[in-house]
Amino acid sequence: MQLPQLGLVLFTFGNVSAADRNLNVFAIKPSGVPYEDLTPQKMVVVDFDGNIVEGNLRPSSDTLTHAVLYKNFETIGGIAHTHSTYATAWAQSLRDIPIYGTTHADHTTYDIPCAAPMNDEMIQGNYEYETGFQIINALKEKKLSYTDIEMVLVGNHAPFTWGKDASKAVYNSAVLEEIAKMAFITETIKTDALRLKDALIKKHYERKHGKDSYYGQ
Ligand SMILES: [Zn+2]
Repeated sequence: MQLPQLGLVLFTFGNVSAADRNLNVFAIKPSGVPYEDLTPQKMVVVDFDGNIVEGNLRPSSDTLTHAVLYKNFETIGGIAHTHSTYATAWAQSLRDIPIYGTTHADHTTYDIPCAAPMNDEMIQGNYEYETGFQIINALKEKKLSYTDIEMVLVGNHAPFTWGKDASKAVYNSAVLEEIAKMAFITETIKTDALRLKDALIKKHYERKHGKDSYYGQ
């Protein structure tokens, strides 16, 4: 329900899920239900193969993408998918988002990867299932693990983010949108803007995440 409040989705766009690793299931938004109408009872509980375990409504049409990610990213507890404007525009441009500044470096030291578009066979096959592998393959190609980076752009489509729980996944969606917006404006002001230099990338990331981090209380 935070997605529309944060301006990350319109109408029934997008979805969030939360996993219970002990029960090997996740709860996901029901398909086509407006966010303001959501209640715990309307959530659909499915297993990591996408089979419905509990609930009366049809789960999000992207459920199989979530299932594939939970199965392969073994420690994550939440996934969010939005069509937020700037992140989606980068996905549509098939471009990684370069690390231009310290806002980006505070959250990850890597460019935000954009997964290559799906081939026709995958599109005509089990599309949502293949979207999960599109994400997994994109990380593999860039030699990243799902713990290195908790956000990805799906080429021609939109972003998926994850985290230790659903709140962190939603937080990452909001951060990604902000990073995407700033990167777009940066390139608008200066078409040949430079990537952030390594010393600053390292400094900012470690200030927040390193073993000697000193950000926050
Ligand atoms: Zn989508």
